[in-house]
Amino acid sequence: MSSVTDNLKHIAGELPSGVTLIAVSKTKPVEMIEEAYAAGQRVFGENKVQEMVDKYEQLPKDINWHMIGHLQTNKVKYIAPFVALIHGVESLKLLETINKEANKVGRVIPCLLQFHIAQEETKFGLTLEEAREILESEAYRGMQNVRIAGVMGMATNTDNEEQIRAEFRHLKEIFDTLKREYFPGNADFKELSMGMSGDYPIAVQEGSTMVRVGSAIFGARQYNV
Ligand SMILES: *Cc1c(COP(=O)(O)O)cnc(C)c1O
Repeated sequence: MSSVTDNLKHIAGELPSGVTLIAVSKTKPVEMIEEAYAAGQRVFGENKVQEMVDKYEQLPKDINWHMIGHLQTNKVKYIAPFVALIHGVESLKLLETINKEANKVGRVIPCLLQFHIAQEETKFGLTLEEAREILESEAYRGMQNVRIAGVMGMATNTDNEEQIRAEFRHLKEIFDTLKREYFPGNADFKELSMGMSGDYPIAVQEGSTMVRVGSAIFGARQYNV
């Protein structure tokens, strides 16, 4: 067995049923995705629009493509026809654009609200208050072509496990709060996207339903993105 296949089997074997493994293939060649595909993997994450479109065009159409990166409004139109889930919604403007582009192609696009839970300033994301503003806005209420499927966040890049755990716990609290306040009884609001190669076991313990794992499957990336 090749290492991609081994890695996938190993990680999939560690995840409880009900947790989705997103294979983060950014910067990696189509051949490696094909290898993962041959091993049964169908959900892949990319963080650049052009790269995702190129790979979408070359690879089997039953792949679920998740946009996990920072998404610029002027690029939404390129992925609207096929993207399975957009993880990084962190403004009303972006949500409005996704809604508009989804409408043009006759789709309802599932989205996650991204929260800032890490200590690093560089990471993107909403505060709970900002999320409430979005969810209470007239604009959001009128949207027919997006569906808020849950929340996403990234923990601080640190060796301090307790800090990582506390940040994931915080995101779970945000999820529970929004569920209670805005989505009670709404089965669509169910995803808690947290956990990467270095911290997914902790994320799973703290209630993650989707882990986004790149280097632990495909190996280290050449450049850091
Ligand atoms: C790159 C990336 C990942 C995967 O990172 P690894 O450490 O390689 O597993 C997960 N989530 C986001 C948002 C990313 O940009």
